[in-house]
Parts: sequence; C-alpha cells; structure tokens
Amino acid sequence: MDDWAILELLVYFTGSLIALTQSVVFAHYYRLFRRDHLLLWSLSFFALAIYLGAAGTSLLLMSKLASAHPLRLVISCISLMAAYLQVVSLVLGTIAIWRTQRWTRKQISIALALACLVGVCTGLAYAFDPGSSQQRMFLRVGLRYLVTGVAALSMGVAIARRWPRGRLGQQLTAIALCVYGLDLLHVFSGYVAQTIGTPLWPWFRQTSLLSLITQIFIGYGLVIWLLENERDRAESATDAAERLRLFDQLTGLPNRSQMLDHLGHQMQHAQGAALLLVRLDNLGNIAVASGMDGVDVALASSAERIEEIARANGLVAARPGADHFAVHGAGFGADGGAQRVAEQILAALSLPLFWSGRDLALEASVGIALAPRDARTADALQSCAEMARARAHRDGAMRYRFYAPDLDAEAKSRLALQSELRTAFANSEFRLEFQPILDGWSLEICGFEALVRWHHPQRGRLLPDAFIHELEPLGLIEALDKWVIEQACLAARNWQRADHEPLTVAVNVSAHSFQRREFAAMIDAILERTGLRAACLEIEIIESIALEHPERAALSIDRLREIGVRVMLDDFGTGFSSLKHLRQLPFDGLKIDHSFVVDVLIDPRDAAIVRAMLALAHSLGLEVVAEGIETAAQLAWFQAAGCDRLQGFHFHRSMEQQAVIELLQLHPPVATPPVAQDIVL
Ligand code: C2E
Ligand code: CA
Ligand code: CA
Repeated sequence: MDDWAILELLVYFTGSLIALTQSVVFAHYYRLFRRDHLLLWSLSFFALAIYLGAAGTSLLLMSKLASAHPLRLVISCISLMAAYLQVVSLVLGTIAIWRTQRWTRKQISIALALACLVGVCTGLAYAFDPGSSQQRMFLRVGLRYLVTGVAALSMGVAIARRWPRGRLGQQLTAIALCVYGLDLLHVFSGYVAQTIGTPLWPWFRQTSLLSLITQIFIGYGLVIWLLENERDRAESATDAAERLRLFDQLTGLPNRSQMLDHLGHQMQHAQGAALLLVRLDNLGNIAVASGMDGVDVALASSAERIEEIARANGLVAARPGADHFAVHGAGFGADGGAQRVAEQILAALSLPLFWSGRDLALEASVGIALAPRDARTADALQSCAEMARARAHRDGAMRYRFYAPDLDAEAKSRLALQSELRTAFANSEFRLEFQPILDGWSLEICGFEALVRWHHPQRGRLLPDAFIHELEPLGLIEALDKWVIEQACLAARNWQRADHEPLTVAVNVSAHSFQRREFAAMIDAILERTGLRAACLEIEIIESIALEHPERAALSIDRLREIGVRVMLDDFGTGFSSLKHLRQLPFDGLKIDHSFVVDVLIDPRDAAIVRAMLALAHSLGLEVVAEGIETAAQLAWFQAAGCDRLQGFHFHRSMEQQAVIELLQLHPPVATPPVAQDIVL
C-alpha cells in the first residue's frame, strides 16, 4: 500500500467518523425541534458515514480479496446504497426548509427507497459481471459521482441564489456544496478520462482530501444555518408576543397600552387632541340571543366601521377594553370635528348587521374628551371620556356627550354612593314600607305594595330612585330583591283584617332577578319558609322586562302562576308596545302609571286611551290598579271607570310594619262605597 493509498484510507475513515458525529448532532437537534429537515440531514450524514466507512473497507480489502468475492460485493452494495441515500436525503432535507408544505411520509419513503434501489442495482450489475471493465467502473462509480456532483452543485447554486446577507450558515453551506459538487464532477471527469484511456492528471488523487474538507464545511454550514433559523424563530416569536402585547387579536386594533402611548405622544406634540370613547352597550343581550360567536361578529364589524370613520377623518382607532373602542387624533375636536365624528360613528353602528339569519342590532354610547381643556395626560383624558360616555349611556341609547367638570363631581358622588351601598347591607340599613292598595268598589284596604327605603346614616331616609339603579352594577340587586320578598312575606303573615279577608302584598322585582331560571323556585322556597299563602303574593314587573325577552318573561310568569303567585305589569302605559304584550304575556293584572292618572282629567285624549286600556284589560280578564291617585277627582274618575283597585297618596302614603298593623286595627270596613255618580267618563 503506497503513501497515497494510506492517506486515502485515513481520509475515508476520518470522514466517516466526522459524518457520524454530524449525524448524531442533527439527530439531537431533531429530538429538540422535531423538524423534518433535521431528521433528513441526520440520515444523510449517517448514510455518508456508512458510505465512507464502506469505501474505506473496500479499499482495505482490495488487495486481499478478489473483486468478485461476496464480502466485497456486499460492501460495495452497501456503500452504493448509502451514497445514493446520502444525496437524496440531503436534497430532500434542504428543500424541506423552503417548502411551506411538509414532505409526506409517503414521499420521503418513496424517494429513499428509490435511492436504495438505484444503489443496489448498480452494485448487483457489478456482481453479475465482475470483470470490472473501465466501462463498468464508470457506470458503477462514475455515474454516482455525476449524480451526486450535479445534485450538490445545483443545491449550492440554489442556496447561493437566495444569498441572504448576514446568514453565515446558508453562505457557508452554499459555498461548501458548490465546491463539493465541483469536486465530485471533477472525480467524475477522472472516470471519464480513465474510460476513454486518457492518463489521469497528477493531482487527481488529492481530491478525496478536498471532498473530506468540503463535507466538514457542509456539516458546519448546516449546523450554523440551523442555529440561525432557531434564532430567527425566537425573534419572530418575540415579535408575535410584542404584537399580542400591543394589539387586540380579534380586531387587529391597538390595545389600551398602545393607545395610551400614542395618545400621550399626540397630546405632547400637538396643539390639542381629542379622544372619543365608544362602548357597545348591549353585548350581554347579543351574547344571550346569538352566543359568543355573535358577540365576536358584533365586535369585529363595529371595529371595521369605526376604523373606517377614523381613517376617513385622519384619526386613529383602538380597542382599549372588551366592549370599548376609541378614536383619537391630534389637532382636532375644538371646531366641532369631534361631534361630527361621534355622530358618524353612531350612525354607522346603527346600520343593520345581519348574522346567522338575525339582525345583531347594536347599541352604543360615546364620550368625548378634549386635551388640554379636560386633561393633561392620556390616562386622565380616558377617564374624562369614560365619564362622559357613562353619562351619555344613562341619558339613553345611541347618544354622545362631551366631558364637563360637573361629571367629575357626579362620578365621585356615585363612587361614594356605591361604597356606602356595599356596607348598607351589612349594617341592615334597608327597611321596608308598605303602601295600602284599596278595593275600587268598597275602598277597603285589600293589600299593600312593599317599597324599600334606605336609612342612610348621614342622609336619612332615601327613596329607591336615589339608589336602586346603582345596585345592579354592584351585583347587589338580586340580594336586595330576595331580602325584600322575604321581609314582605314575613310582614304579610302578620296582617289581619277585621273581617278576616286575606290581604295581598305586592313586591317590585328587578329584571335581573325576574329573568333568572331559578326565580320561581326561590319564591316557592320563601313562601314555604315564611308560611305565606302563594295567593297573597303579587310580583310587579315593569314593561321593559317583558319587552327585552318576551319568551323568557312568559316562562317566568307561567312558573309563578303554577305555584299560585300573581304577576302584575307595573307602570303600564309608559312603554311603547304595552297592548301587544298584554295579549302575549299571561299577566294577572296591570297597574296604570301615575302619569296617566294625572293626565286623564286634563287631556281628553288620555282619558280615551285609559278607557280603552281598561276595556281591553277587562276583556282579557285582567285586573286593573290605578296608582298615584292624589285627588278626590282622580278617585272619582277611576272609580266611575270601573278600576278594580286604587293606590295613592290620596288614601295613604307608605308606612312601616307597625303602622300597617295599627291601621288595620283602626280601619273598619266602609259600609257604603262613595261612588261618584256625577262624573262624566
Ligand atoms: P313603583 O313600583 O311605581 O312604586 C310606586 C311609587 O309611586 C312609589 O315610589 C310610591 O311611593 C309612589 N306613589 C304612590 N302613591 C303615589 C301618589 O299618589 N303620588 C305620587 N307622586 N307617587 C306615589 P317609591 O317608593 O319612591 O318607589 C319608586 C320606584 O322604586 C317604584 O316604583 C319601584 O319601581 C322601585 N322600587 C320600590 N321598592 C322596590 C323594591 O323593593 N325592589 C325593587 N326592585 N324596586 C323597588
Ligand atoms: Ca310597583
Ligand atoms: Ca308603578
């Protein structure tokens, strides 16, 4: 064995060891990152290790065994199979990086099987004709060099064509693959020369050393490429996290922190800035009617409409909260621009929005705050806009409002009220009073309406209008309703009329409690606990409850009637579609609102309406209560009109339980009812 042969042997075995190490490195990365190309590269370097090891062994055995010896044949087949496998898996792996679609297992298996087949066929071709002519050698080994060389060169060129700056891994791989490919083609040319009988050039044998070095560089290039890829992935994950931190996912609009940054910048660097805060007020109802998908559609479509208006006015849109949007901009607002934008937004949101066969009718409120007039920081400006918006919302649906300093005082006093309400429960500051309801014919007391009062430690006795609307946002309204029903039932247990006729107690119930599925069961349990007969309890609900969800209201009314509790429609005549609901919902009676009671004696049209109401109610078998009777004239009119029951200051104001008991003892049944004969209806 000459020096060159020894060097060649060394090159093969060292190359095999290096390729094996690279294969192990890629296998390790594959376990970490689970990417196809890593597995393919690992396979490629493993195949290379086998090929080089087999080629080295073959060289060792060359002098010891005949070329047709089965061991040499097997080794030759293995080496050829490994050689084709190496090329195919390297190519597949490198293409896998660029492809967005993954190679399927089937595609990979077919490609690798084909590579093995070509390798075995070339090996067997040699076995059946071991004469080893130059032509056979050319076909067996030379062609492989040609295929591998062309593949490596074209891969190198393909990678180099993309030549990304600052990407050492890809650059090194591209150069090394090109050199490797050229080297293999160079070896191929040697085989061609040998086949046609031309003497080999003197440096030919050194090329195996060169190929070893280039393989090492390909390996390093791929490893660096991989690490750079992972670094990019980590960077893009950081970018995505940053986007998530600054933008809302559903609408793609900037979120609150991004909005405040931007707005703060606008406030600092421009003469003035304006912030419009928009809230979708009926998302809860949309969620009930159409589910959370409906809510997402409502939000996404509102975001689109609002953003379009913002863009058309040179402003920026944002989504600072779950049901809030914002529009802000520098140098506008003072000349009526903000008002115009608010009107445009409300107009756009009131356009119909059809989804899944329904109209997701949107309700919104808009608050506007201007800088520097209202606030000097973005945070404070947002609070001002929110205060204005909350006020607009209280004024009614689809309204906007500018911030004014008195809203600040109002907001502070509301906050104080809310915190006092929280302790009012714990300190038992609520009390019930009862207002008598009289029989329309005999004018005898036939029942009472329970009315809640808050005995405030500083402000004294407060009427419900001063606090009841604050209980719902605090989540306390249900607790109050339950407490009132329980106290009213307990109180009514102790009422006794001289003639032992039963007395009813009417309780006002909030929409929140009434719509709960368990409401009737709760009433049933309270009746059981307090021992009051169901027929003695009346539940009063206002029209808007029935109007919001007629099906749910009907269900609750049915359940209550099943247990024997009566349900009255309160404040009748103040809503829009009262008559329609009277027909649809199974009420036991209705209470004509105080405003109508006042008007019947002033306006003949109102008198006609109330007469029609009475006729309709009676034709439907409903009882009618007139509430707010303050004068003898009103009493006479309603008595003559055939109103079933009467209630008002003309008879009694509300009173505490003790006074009720005394009143019942003092109040003997009226013998002859004073019917006003001379009232013309
Ligand atoms: P409402 O259900 O219409 O109750 C009747 C209101 O009219 C009571 O006011 C009563 O004091 C008043 N009123 C009675 N007769 C006359 C009259 O002749 N003239 C005038 N001007 N007013 C009269 P109040 O107690 O201030 O209650 C106001 C509203 O607060 C009630 O209206 C009811 O909607 C609500 N409310 C009262 N108590 C409760 C309660 O315990 N729970 C709930 N959820 N709401 C309640
Ligand atoms: Ca009432
Ligand atoms: Ca009422």
